[in-house]
Amino acid sequence: MTNLPQQTPTAGPSIKELRHWAEMPFIWLGIILTAIAVASVFILLSVGAELDEDAALIMTALLIPIFAGVVLVRHMYWTKITNSVEMNEHQFPEAYKIYLDVATRMGFGGEGNPPVPRLYLENGMGGMNAFAAKCNFSDKYVVITSDLMDLAYAHGDFDILEFVFAHELGHVKCGHVNLWRLAVNPVMTLVRLQATMTRATEYTADRCASYYVEPHKAMGMIGLYAGKNMSHRVDIDEYFASIENHKDSWWIVVANFLADHAVGWRRMQTLKRCIDEKTWDIHGKML
Ligand SMILES: [Zn+2]
Repeated sequence: MTNLPQQTPTAGPSIKELRHWAEMPFIWLGIILTAIAVASVFILLSVGAELDEDAALIMTALLIPIFAGVVLVRHMYWTKITNSVEMNEHQFPEAYKIYLDVATRMGFGGEGNPPVPRLYLENGMGGMNAFAAKCNFSDKYVVITSDLMDLAYAHGDFDILEFVFAHELGHVKCGHVNLWRLAVNPVMTLVRLQATMTRATEYTADRCASYYVEPHKAMGMIGLYAGKNMSHRVDIDEYFASIENHKDSWWIVVANFLADHAVGWRRMQTLKRCIDEKTWDIHGKML
């Protein structure tokens, strides 16, 4: 069990308030479409019709959360952690303290709260990424890649770590790693709305981070777009001026629609509005 920092969790917004407006409508759409698809398959089966591959996939989808909980997530977890370095008070203590502090502010750890998910460092091999996932039916963990950690340990930018940790813990806090959500993926993929549903949950995780982390720290996310070695050289005002200087093309809407994370311009502009408007409660553009 992890030692907890001497902090009490702050009473923040409810999970419902933290969510991006589009998250639950698309989840419900996925549930309804999946229910219709499954009912249709049963009707076709009852009249003796032959089923195609899509129908078989939809039926399999109902079993995915169970199969994932028993096999897939455990396999992924053990594969990941056996090729990673666990972070704790003695291993990368500077970064881990930031993680623990933000986790505590978000209501993890301590009596009656969900436990702080274990944190691991993996070799990013050039990829700047982090994710939260489940170890089994109940336990969760967070992984951050070395290229993101390089921003802190090689370039002194620990702010981005705090935002990224809060973003990943936001996924856990808002239930995005719950296995039942996997059941709607096949149908949402078939109707080309999987990326849209994911994009809404990514905005939700950013909203969590925007509430629990000082807004100016979100600007460290420019590292995702400029790279770990150039990030600290970016003139952030010039970056936003450059976005304004481009025509707000219809093709940005297309690029955003097809992306499971909002494109960088949309994401950074949303985070910048939190600073300009002195609020965390900004909903990024879905298109
Ligand atoms: Zn995310």
